[in-house]
Amino acid sequence: LVDASYDRINEVDDQIGAFLTLDEESARSQAKQLDAESDKEARLFGIPAGIKDNIVTKDLRTTCGSQFLRNFDNPLYNATVVDKLQAEKNITIGKLNMDEFAMGSSTENSSFALTRNPWNTDYVPGGSSGGSAAAVAAGEVLFSLGSDTGGSIRQPASFCGVVGMKPTYGRVSRFGLVAFASSLDQIGPVTRSVEDNARVLEVISGVDKMDATSANVDVPSYTDALTNDVKGLKIAVPKEYLSEGVAPEVKEAVMNALKVYELLGAEWEEVSLPHSSYAVAAYYLLASSEASANLARFDGVRYGVRSDKADNMMDMFKYSRSEGFGEEVKRRIMLGTFALSSGYYDAYYKKAQQVRTLIRKDFEQIFENYDVVIGPTAPTPAFKIGENIDDPLTMYANDILTIPVNLAGVPGISVPCGFSDEGLPIGLQIIGKAFDEQMVYRTAHAYE
Ligand code: GLN
Repeated sequence: LVDASYDRINEVDDQIGAFLTLDEESARSQAKQLDAESDKEARLFGIPAGIKDNIVTKDLRTTCGSQFLRNFDNPLYNATVVDKLQAEKNITIGKLNMDEFAMGSSTENSSFALTRNPWNTDYVPGGSSGGSAAAVAAGEVLFSLGSDTGGSIRQPASFCGVVGMKPTYGRVSRFGLVAFASSLDQIGPVTRSVEDNARVLEVISGVDKMDATSANVDVPSYTDALTNDVKGLKIAVPKEYLSEGVAPEVKEAVMNALKVYELLGAEWEEVSLPHSSYAVAAYYLLASSEASANLARFDGVRYGVRSDKADNMMDMFKYSRSEGFGEEVKRRIMLGTFALSSGYYDAYYKKAQQVRTLIRKDFEQIFENYDVVIGPTAPTPAFKIGENIDDPLTMYANDILTIPVNLAGVPGISVPCGFSDEGLPIGLQIIGKAFDEQMVYRTAHAYE
């Protein structure tokens, strides 16, 4: 499998650009050392995977898609998720391209390389986990890990026609995930099938003493939940998720999926998530505020390439940060420091936190009467490379259907549900109650 993975990468990655770093020598030697007899219980025995480049891998370059970290060649430890994969004899093939520090929706903010959508290379793969989705869609690895702060697993999964899960906040340890917005970030799997996805999440889930926000909640068997039985399932379809901004072909694909659920014996009803129209504004304030604090550590001393222009300490910070960060990252840091500054804190950050509570309550109320919420993952199929890059607001608006899920902290998956007229995949989003990944998987698997 590892040989097949590198063969495929050699064949197609020139055109796709999913990988930033390959770990070929070490991966092949690890694969050779596997022992089918003693390791036969291992749940990911010899399975090749790619890891998003904001997840720290011991001795393997980890850049976060940023020139600032271009020489971070030898991280000292593995993220908890990577240790967990390795304990199950999984093989890391390499590190996957992403928007710089996970800020973006198209992977065009990577400061290293362009990643292309495997279905049509004129189009973006989505983002920020564009490399993670493209690598799986192009058959370069059997699964990958991504991270999702406002949609960065689900939206690229939708654009690339693969399955992407953002678990409940706290379900998966964030230790070793380079923080973007710590109260929203979650790691999750990108796979071809729902079953594979459930298998990988089973391995990486669970409380971790290295992450105080990881939840001490039992991890049930997600694969046991794949019963194909959705009879009597109650589905809520928020009307805000099928409103004007959503492309007609996306709407049609989602309506067709709902018909399939009806045939399978489930029921659906239209509901309202009344505060979802404020989600994008609240998210960009909160995520940028947290990012501005988290990214303070990149100063050219503790982390990052130091500028050689400066001859005093303050200039060293300034030049290193000016040269190291890209435009979008700087935009977020400025927005975040502004929102947190005294005099503006109540008007922006505090307000946004209050909106966040209302959005969480919208979901809680719905889940009193329904098992899952279903809608599209993104308002459109993949857009063309370059189409939105000069227009941050249009780019931000693309996250409108994924962001509320992060703000509420609940799990959400994207599964393929059809194609646009241009032959680009469309994703169906299934959202569940906090820590009810089983229901999300069951619902997704029955449809698939
Ligand atoms: N597109 C969103 C942003 O740019 C979400 C990113 C993410 O989930 N990491 O912030």
